Amino acid sequence: MNNLQLRDYDLSFATNPRSSATHMLLRLLMFCSMLCAPLAKSWSAMSANSATSAEFEPKVVLVTLDGMRWQEVFYGADDEIASQRRYVPNPKQIQQLLNGNKAEKLMPFLHQVVKKQGLLVGDQRKNSVMQVTNPWQVSYPGYSELLTGIADPRISSNHAINNPNVSVFEWLAQQPAMQDKVAAFGSWRLFPWILNRERSGFFINAGFENFTAFTNDKINWLNKLQRQTPSPFADVRQDIFTQQFASEYLQQAKPRLLLVAFGETDDYAHAGQYPQYLAAAQRADQLIAELWQQLQQDPYYKDQTTLIITTDHGRGNSADTWSRHGVSRQLNAKTTDQQILGADGIWLAMIGPSIAPRGLVTTNEPWQQRQIASTISQLLGYDFLQFQYKAATALAWATPAAPAQLRISP
Ligand SMILES: [Zn+2]
Repeated sequence: MNNLQLRDYDLSFATNPRSSATHMLLRLLMFCSMLCAPLAKSWSAMSANSATSAEFEPKVVLVTLDGMRWQEVFYGADDEIASQRRYVPNPKQIQQLLNGNKAEKLMPFLHQVVKKQGLLVGDQRKNSVMQVTNPWQVSYPGYSELLTGIADPRISSNHAINNPNVSVFEWLAQQPAMQDKVAAFGSWRLFPWILNRERSGFFINAGFENFTAFTNDKINWLNKLQRQTPSPFADVRQDIFTQQFASEYLQQAKPRLLLVAFGETDDYAHAGQYPQYLAAAQRADQLIAELWQQLQQDPYYKDQTTLIITTDHGRGNSADTWSRHGVSRQLNAKTTDQQILGADGIWLAMIGPSIAPRGLVTTNEPWQQRQIASTISQLLGYDFLQFQYKAATALAWATPAAPAQLRISP
């Protein structure tokens, strides 16, 4: 990373109403990232060294941005959508996102840290393709595919039913070395059903639920603030609460597998509010940067944690359809329901000790959402296929993070 890019990074935040403290922390993170990059690169060499590997205990943090399009992830604000008054009543509101390096302005952490030290996939304009394989291309089927490794025909809508399938989170939580080391936080209220809390038993906090895992002054304050802060959405709390609860849980409970599922992007998109959708993406990128910084400042996580960032589904690929996904019901009964084209396209970003810095990865065959469950398991040293033989295999590039002697037979 050179000085020019650092200046670009500063500029992108100078236009944001962030606190100067956060800004300083981010700069510190960028600096640390530069220092740590050679360490990450030489991880495979370090793994062979038993003296080093004995201290290594892999962790995975999975972050999702609900319904975040690959188009904005890789290219930033879309000029055609931005030019339409029905989506952007006040163009000045997003003017600063429409020039310069638009992708880096929208998601600086993703492009300036993850892309340089890890990998990204899903830029379809550059032969990098990742897809959901479930045909519904809505949230519950997407999260279910992502977390269970299979696209189950029984999971075809967003109805609140307990998932009959066991997620990789639930299965890993049953492993002796992982007990009390698995947790999930989501802005959308459906995660207790998607992860089948009744059966799985690990800690899940979602929607507008109070945080109940433990209590302290900060948690009491956050619970109160959450109750007293209105959300624009009926089923989705504001992402800052998901982030803050997850951050406090990381600090105190030290999970080895954590889901942090943000939701605002999808809801603002459905509302056709393009500036708010972009702002939600920008905030999420900032929250992820803060999460990564927290992980790298904690010896329990530092250089042992893989961060995976992805989404549950794509959205329409045109200025007319970007706000929607899945099957669009036609009001005129004479026409058939219409599948929104492009909503199967998703993206993934990854950074961690066993991930080589590859930048954008081109794909011969599209990567699949259902491969993520096995990938998570493999990164933690377990073989999910031994339990769920129907799950898709791990993504080939995700080599086991743990040295052989630390891998635990499930
Ligand atoms: Zn949606």
